[in-house]
Amino acid sequence: MTDHRPTESTMGDPFFSVDRLQTHFPIRRGVLRRVVGAVQAVDGVSFGIERGETLGLVGESGCGKTTVGRSLLRLVEPTGGQVRLGGVDVRQVSGRQLRALRRRMQVVFQDPYGSLNPRMTVRGILEEGLIVHRMGSASERVERMQRALERTGMPADALRRYPHEFSGGQRQRIAIARALVLEPEFLVLDEPVSALDVSIQAQVVNLLVDLRKDLGLTYLFISHDLSVVEYLSDRVAVMYLGRFVETATAAKLYAAPLHPYTQALFSAVPSVDPERRRSRIILAGDVPSPSRPPSGCRFHPRCPLAESVCGEVDPPEVAVDGHRVHCHVAARAVDQAGGDTAAASRQIAELIAKQVPPAQATAAASV
Ligand code: SF4
Repeated sequence: MTDHRPTESTMGDPFFSVDRLQTHFPIRRGVLRRVVGAVQAVDGVSFGIERGETLGLVGESGCGKTTVGRSLLRLVEPTGGQVRLGGVDVRQVSGRQLRALRRRMQVVFQDPYGSLNPRMTVRGILEEGLIVHRMGSASERVERMQRALERTGMPADALRRYPHEFSGGQRQRIAIARALVLEPEFLVLDEPVSALDVSIQAQVVNLLVDLRKDLGLTYLFISHDLSVVEYLSDRVAVMYLGRFVETATAAKLYAAPLHPYTQALFSAVPSVDPERRRSRIILAGDVPSPSRPPSGCRFHPRCPLAESVCGEVDPPEVAVDGHRVHCHVAARAVDQAGGDTAAASRQIAELIAKQVPPAQATAAASV
């Protein structure tokens, strides 16, 4: 059974609060297209984000990261749970209210080539949202667009040009300007630098850091690049098969991961810090289908530390020293270590090292 009690992060009133978010997609078969099942892309995820904070979201491909981001913005409709932005229930609004809410929440996608209409000038691309949201006169709109371009380091004459005239990094700046022009408070950044050359990635990441500081923005930063996530995020959530398995501040999570999946994921991150160097852990098998998730702990078919209870009982959330972790073994390790998460993390790493054959300890979990 999933523990559906509100977590600490969803109590009180953070700027953004998500409680038991669920997004299932129906599976239809036959001539009558009868619903025969559901892909449980997101299944009971709860978290909060404070104003001005960046929450990083990591996990293997297909774990549901992107669906979380899209569900918050209602680009896909959640099937359960509650999403609140600044006290407004995002799932309950419609019509004009929904439009007003969408202006406050914007998204930047991974692909700067596919996300900009090649037949529109940059002016057309940026102005579209301003017209939809009825923001300003024609001259005020031009001013807003020029300001947004300037903020992203693009020349004002970019307005007259087409996306194909720009490099990948410049296109992503235009995509960011398109989001900024609406003066949002919250941005979902969905792999915003993954498609860029490494040399350009750092520039765009630094731009995002500056914008957050200067404009007081709040981010949900989705990425498979664990180093970039650590650099940009205040807190990080680790997702596996539609659920969060561990959440902590970036510093605590990277220094002392508790969940065996987090340990496997982070074993791939190279580090110059000897304290953080870990043997690489390869996980057996593939991620199970989200249409038929395993019982109990969803990670149990691949977990080197799985016990019989793991396949039967969904591990409840344990909150300790800023970590929120769902794992029977981690809970026991934390208990035995008297709440010392660094000691518990070392103990779990040692247990995994005993279980994973040395020949396998050469490749890491792929994200
Ligand atoms: Fe592994 Fe069990 Fe922990 Fe799940 S609950 S991560 S199967 S040890």
